[in-house]
Amino acid sequence: MNRPLKVIIIGAGIGGLTTAIVLRQFGYVVEVYEQATTLRTAGSGLSVMSNAIAALSSIGINLKLEHFGAPIKCFEIRNIRDRLIRKLPIPEISSSNGFDSVCISRKALQEALLQQLDKNVIHIGAKATNITERNDGISIHFADGRETHGDLLIGADGIYSFVRDYIQGNKSIRTADYIAWLAITRYQHPQITSGYVGHYWGTGKRIGLIDIGGGEVYWWGTANMHTEQAHKWQGNNRDILSYYKGWPDIVSDIILQTPSENIIAVPAQDRPFSSCWGKGRITLLGDAAHPMLTSLGQGAGMAIEDASVLGHVLRQQSDPVSALRQYEKIRIPRTEMLVNASRTLSEVEQDDRFFHCLKRNLSLQFVPTKTLKKGLDKSLVFSADGLDLDANTSLSSFRR
Ligand SMILES: Cc1cc2nc3c(=O)[nH]c(=O)nc-3n(C[C@H](O)[C@H](O)[C@H](O)COP(=O)(O)OP(=O)(O)OC[C@H]3O[C@@H](n4cnc5c(N)ncnc54)[C@H](O)[C@@H]3O)c2cc1C
Repeated sequence: MNRPLKVIIIGAGIGGLTTAIVLRQFGYVVEVYEQATTLRTAGSGLSVMSNAIAALSSIGINLKLEHFGAPIKCFEIRNIRDRLIRKLPIPEISSSNGFDSVCISRKALQEALLQQLDKNVIHIGAKATNITERNDGISIHFADGRETHGDLLIGADGIYSFVRDYIQGNKSIRTADYIAWLAITRYQHPQITSGYVGHYWGTGKRIGLIDIGGGEVYWWGTANMHTEQAHKWQGNNRDILSYYKGWPDIVSDIILQTPSENIIAVPAQDRPFSSCWGKGRITLLGDAAHPMLTSLGQGAGMAIEDASVLGHVLRQQSDPVSALRQYEKIRIPRTEMLVNASRTLSEVEQDDRFFHCLKRNLSLQFVPTKTLKKGLDKSLVFSADGLDLDANTSLSSFRR
């Protein structure tokens, strides 16, 4: 084929935007279609762990997220009496791999991504509703009557993915029976130093307090709750506080000083892992392919890794359809491992049986550092296995 490949991406979330950046870097023509009428993000934060930053670096992309958020300098787990259970060596592991892990608001991450992209490639108010496959290409039809054609289709359309339904048939979401409250607030406290991440573990409840830079703190809380109730939940900050009676003052303080209208409530959910990601000229990426619970903080990280690997294999393979299958082959084992590990960790973290929680906390306190590091390495290290990286696009491109 003489002309550059034209790739249609459905969804302008973290996965879709990153894929557009990566593919344009390699010279492909890209169109991103987003159903929302503006590119707004939820008012919460997230962590972009070092493996995701390493993956982007492997293709020469540096989003400079440390300028948009806060590199993690301290990551601790505490009990509800405010005693330290364990500091996790996340900053050390990240640094030893050459990349920071960064906590950041979703808005700032979106800004960092959009800065790398010509906005003309993004088409908003475009809800994909139909796909037509042909031998020589693919057509996508939108709710408002628009239509586009391309060589490849990437479904980066999130947990409720329309493209996934097209590939796999409509399958149900898997619930986790807990709710997550999320907010960003301006907050100062001596405990929350630059790059601080602190998680408090209770029985069937947790709270995370995270510095995201610029005087802002991202906090999240969880509590076990039936999914139907979590979907309908409409309380205020005082209702949330009622779940954390007797917890350290910093917890009640930050919840109470966050305006209720700034707090988002989401039910925890993922999907049972499926290895069926694509056919022909279509594949899935990010939450459309492998939505996971949040315990490892790696959902967006996996979307970013997906985009990077997809870029590498498309560049390396002359047949784009074979490249999609190779991308799936490389990504399926790693993402399956993380979907399952996130679910297992989430069950341990949300356990509401007192003695199980005591045992959990003691296990974390006394687990040998070597074992702890080995476990964390699995998610925090981006592996280039299966990729043929050349000297110009190596993992060392942007190492600090
Ligand atoms: C509470 C919580 C905390 C989290 N914390 C972290 C964290 O700390 N670190 C981390 O790495 N991850 C975290 N995650 C996960 C992370 O947010 C997701 O994995 C990531 O945002 C997925 O990005 P995505 O682009 O694949 O999907 P999405 O962000 O869901 O984007 C999909 C896009 O597709 C659009 N779309 C959907 N259907 C259509 C259609 N038919 N036509 C056109 N457009 C469509 C949607 O409007 C949306 O914009 C967290 C998630 C939650 C819920």
